[in-house]
Amino acid sequence: MYLAIDHPLIKHKITWMRKMDTDKKMFRELLNEISIILMYEASRDLPLREIEVETPLMKTNGFVLEDSAVAIIPILRAGLGMTDILQDIVPIAKVGHIGLFRNEETLEPVEYYKKLPKDISQRHVFVVDPMLATGGSLSAAIDIIKKENPLSIKVLTIISAPEGLKRMETDHPDVMIYTAQIDEKLNEKGYILPGLGDAGDRLFGTL
Ligand code: URA
Repeated sequence: MYLAIDHPLIKHKITWMRKMDTDKKMFRELLNEISIILMYEASRDLPLREIEVETPLMKTNGFVLEDSAVAIIPILRAGLGMTDILQDIVPIAKVGHIGLFRNEETLEPVEYYKKLPKDISQRHVFVVDPMLATGGSLSAAIDIIKKENPLSIKVLTIISAPEGLKRMETDHPDVMIYTAQIDEKLNEKGYILPGLGDAGDRLFGTL
C-alpha cells in the first residue's frame, strides 16, 4: 500500500533536491521540510487523549497525543537526515535505529545495528528512509520491527522506485508507505532514476 503525496510544494522542493549543485545545507533543509509534510499526512490517525487546560480566560478541553504513541525509526544512514525534524514536530516520539548492509555475495541485507525503544509494542512506528530503491533493506527492517509487535508500522520516504514499491507490496502489503515522489526506475547499480544520487552522501558531504 502506498500514498504518493501530490502537492506543488513537494514538487518544488524535490526539484531543488535533485539538482546536483544544491549544496548540503539546502539539501538538508529541503529534506526536513518534505519530512514534515509526509509526517503530517501519515500521522492523521494517531490516538489522542482529551485533557482539561486553563487558558488565561477560562477552562477548556483539548487533545494531546498519548505519551507512548510514537516511535520513529530511521534506517542508517540516510534516515538520520529525516529524524531530528520529526522529533521536533512529534516531541513525545522515541527514536530507534536500524543499520543494514548488503552482503555482496548473497546480495541479502545483513543487520549490523539495532536499538529499538523497549516499549515499542505500545507504539505506532514510523520508519524513515529518504530513498526506497530495491526495497531490500526496507523490507528487512520491517521484518525486524514486526518481531517486536508494534501497534502499527508506516514508512516515510522521499523518492520511491516502482521496483521498491512492488517489493514492499509483495513482502509487506499491510505496511502503508507515504512517498513524496515515484520515479521512473532503478539503474543497474540500484540507484533511482532520475533520483537525486546517494542521499546519505549528499546529506553528510561524503561525495
Ligand atoms: N539510495 C540512495 O541514496 N539513492 C538511490 O538512488 C538509491 C538508494
